[in-house]
Amino acid sequence: MISERELARRYASIEIRNSEPNRVNTYTCDRCKYVLKTIDRHEGVTPMSLTCDCCGGTSISSFYQDKCPDKEPEKEWVVPTLEELKKYRANPAMLDHIFNGGLYLRKIKGWPGLPASMVCMDEVSEVTPEQYEAIASRISRK
Ligand SMILES: [Zn+2]
Repeated sequence: MISERELARRYASIEIRNSEPNRVNTYTCDRCKYVLKTIDRHEGVTPMSLTCDCCGGTSISSFYQDKCPDKEPEKEWVVPTLEELKKYRANPAMLDHIFNGGLYLRKIKGWPGLPASMVCMDEVSEVTPEQYEAIASRISRK
């Protein structure tokens, strides 16, 4: 595991630049069709796919097409703080990602959770209203 001192030394060499404004992306789950909406706060690399918070399926990037224009972003892509990065000292893949210009995804502070009416699914979804409710409550607890 990398020492805290080495981590801090490498962290100091990261150049942090703000992203252009309103750089919003959405990720649609291939299983439950839940759409996660994100915003880039810093410049950097983001992945093409993520694990779905709802069901563990694979959520695929829309490549910065906003599929849910009425929904507020719930997570933000950032260069993590040094404190956040310390949690990943034993995770070389995560550290490599960050030290190679990758961004870190975190929940936006103050995001109010998700009323069922605000769950935004892709239009091809065949999810029932009951499933919407279940997804909304799971997402809100994360
Ligand atoms: Zn899902």
